[in-house]
Amino acid sequence: MKLLVTGGAGFIGSHTSLLLLEEGYDLVIYDSFHNSSKKVFKRFEKILGCDETYLTKRIKVIEGDIRDRNLLEEVFNYYSSSGDSITAVLHFAGLKSVSESVIKPIDYWDVNLLGTKNLIEVMAKYECYKLVFSSSATVYGSTSSSKITEDHNINPQNPYGHTKAAVEDFLTDLYNSNDKWSFAILRYFNPVGAHSSGQIGEDPFGVPNNLFPFISQVAIGRLEKLLVFGNDWPTTDGTGIRDYIHVIDLAQGHISALEKLLENNNQIVKLNLGSGKGHSVLDVIKTFSKVTGVDIPYEISNRRSGDTGQNVADPSLSKKTLGWETKRTLFEMCRDSWNWQTKNPNGYN
Ligand code: NAD
Ligand code: UDP
Repeated sequence: MKLLVTGGAGFIGSHTSLLLLEEGYDLVIYDSFHNSSKKVFKRFEKILGCDETYLTKRIKVIEGDIRDRNLLEEVFNYYSSSGDSITAVLHFAGLKSVSESVIKPIDYWDVNLLGTKNLIEVMAKYECYKLVFSSSATVYGSTSSSKITEDHNINPQNPYGHTKAAVEDFLTDLYNSNDKWSFAILRYFNPVGAHSSGQIGEDPFGVPNNLFPFISQVAIGRLEKLLVFGNDWPTTDGTGIRDYIHVIDLAQGHISALEKLLENNNQIVKLNLGSGKGHSVLDVIKTFSKVTGVDIPYEISNRRSGDTGQNVADPSLSKKTLGWETKRTLFEMCRDSWNWQTKNPNGYN
C-alpha cells in the first residue's frame, strides 16, 4: 500500500516513516527540507540494514513545497496513472515555532493552512480521502485542568496555534460536507527522544527553544547553562509541568490512527497523543543528569512570555479509540535523546 508522507524528513515524520516502512507500507515522502536534512534517508538504510537500491524501491523522496499545487498534482497523477494510487496521507509538513509564528504570521497561515488546502484539493481530485493530521496541544491554550480531555475548549494563544485550530475546523467542515472523507486529527503534547539506534533524532537549526534539545546541548557543552523559565508556577516544585512523549510512542500512535482510518470509511477522530504523566523542568534536569552522569548547570529566570504552568493530556480517549498508549518513560526519553546527541553532536551535519 502506498502512502504519502508530507514533512516525512522532519523530526516526527522521519520516525513515523521508519516505523511505516517496518510495517510494510511503501512511501512517497514530500518535503521542502526547510527544516530537515536529506541525510536522514541514509540513516534509514543503517537502521533497516538495507542498501540504497532496496530503500529507493520502498521510498520515493520528492523535494517540494506543500504550497506547490502543481507539483503535488504531478505526484498524485504519477501514481494514479501507474495503477499504484496513494491510499492515504500523513500530513506533517508545516511550520512549528510558536515564537516565530508571532513574528511571521503570514508564513504560518500560508504554509499551515494554504498548504493543507492545496493538499486536500489534490487528494479530492485523485479520490484519496484519508488523512492523518499533526495537530497540537497548543490548540487548547491556557488551562486550569489537571489533565486535558479532547472536549476541552479550543482557545489557542498564538498564530501557530490559530493555524492548527483553523485546519482542525477546515477538516471538520470537509467531513461534514461529504461522507467520503476520513480524518485522524492528532493533538501532540511534548514529543521528545530519538530512535534508540541514535541514527535519527531531532536536529533543530540554531539555538533550540525547547527544553529537551536545549538540555542536550548544555550537557554536551555546546551551550553554557539552562535557564529555567520560572519557579513560581502553581506546580509541585514551582517549575513548568509538561507531558513528554517519546517520539517512537508518538510514531506508533500514528500507525494505530492510520490503521483505524484504513479499517472504515467516513470517520473523524480528534485525539490527544500524550502519556498522561506530568514532569516538571526540575524532574527533567534531574533525570537527564542521572542518565548522562553530567551535571546540568541551570539558573532560575523569569517566566517565558506565553508559557503555561501545566499541560498534561488525558490520553484515555486515545487508548479507547486506538488501543494505543505510551510505553516509554522519562528515563528512556532522556537516554535516547542523549544517545542521539552524543552520536551526532552536530545533528545530521
Ligand atoms: P519538523 O520541522 O522537524 O518537520 C516538519 C517537516 O516539514 C520538515 O521536514 C520541514 O522541512 C517540512 N516542511 C516545512 N515547511 C514545508 C513546506 N512549505 N512544504 C513542504 N515541507 C515543509 O517538525 P516536527 O517536530 O517533526 O513536526 C511535525 C508536525 O507536527 C508539524 O506540523 C508540527 O506543527 C506538528 N507538531 C509538532 C510538535 C513538536 O513539538 N515537535 C508538537 C505538536 C505538533
Ligand atoms: N523551559 C525552560 N527553559 C528552556 C526551555 C523550556 O525552563 O530553555 C521550560 C518551559 O517553560 C516549559 C518546559 O520547559 O515549562 C517545556 O518547554 P518546551 O518549550 O520544550 O515545550 P512547550 O512549552 O512548548 O510545551
